[in-house]
Amino acid sequence: MATPRFASFERIVFFTGAGLSAESGIPTYRGQGGVWHQYDYRQYACQPAFERDPAKVWDFHDVRRTAVGACEPNPGHRIIADVQAKKPATAIITQNIDGLHARAGGRDVIELHGSLWRVRCDRERTVRADTSIPIASRTCACGAYLRPDIVWFGEMPMHMEEIYEVLDRCGLFMAIGTSGEVYPAGGFVLHVRRHRPRARTVELNLEPSGNQPLFKEHIYGPATQVVPPYVERVLAHGVEI
Ligand code: NAD
Repeated sequence: MATPRFASFERIVFFTGAGLSAESGIPTYRGQGGVWHQYDYRQYACQPAFERDPAKVWDFHDVRRTAVGACEPNPGHRIIADVQAKKPATAIITQNIDGLHARAGGRDVIELHGSLWRVRCDRERTVRADTSIPIASRTCACGAYLRPDIVWFGEMPMHMEEIYEVLDRCGLFMAIGTSGEVYPAGGFVLHVRRHRPRARTVELNLEPSGNQPLFKEHIYGPATQVVPPYVERVLAHGVEI
């Protein structure tokens, strides 16, 4: 039998979704208990709803701020931050808006769907951090309504150029807790396969996602149970190629 060869990686990309934060107590959007089974996004999470009734949209986001603000990063967020501290070329790309990567110590987190903890004024074109719960002011000094700096339904994701630059350099791509159903994020693994054919692609999720065949390796289970041991093993031994 041929001896397995092992590769270690410097350029690791963690690409995370709602499943990573599920065990911190933040429900995923799909599946059981998903937010969009309870709330119609057309009433609460799109620009037309905000223009129709900004107070109603802010009430909803204050409820989310309160719920998310009470949650803590879990061992999955923490080990990702630890890897980045040890291997500075590590990138964290997340679809989550909860800010838990940064609270766990993650640096330069690329938040492609924005953040619950930033507000922006579309009149002044300004963005700023605001972690008050409920939001201290719903209006800007200029008098316009502030809005959460979140990518709502029907809007373009943020930082795409930077994301593709990161993907184009990666050696190990780990998708954690994401269904792969939201595009363009759902296409990242295919992008890595095409542009970095030698990169290792790994899916860590509760169940196989629609992108499952595109990953070279699959690890299924709750993120807090599967991510730390897998990551520690990769750091200690690399992966078999
Ligand atoms: P999703 O809800 O579509 O899918 C979540 C995935 O996580 C599923 O494949 C599910 O099987 C898996 N999962 C559930 N529990 C898990 C666990 N304990 N461990 C590991 N995996 C688990 O979420 P998505 O693919 O991230 O994308 C949907 C959109 O939802 C994104 O746009 C994101 O912005 C948004 N979102 C963000 C948050 C957050 O900020 N925490 C929460 C909900 C939704």
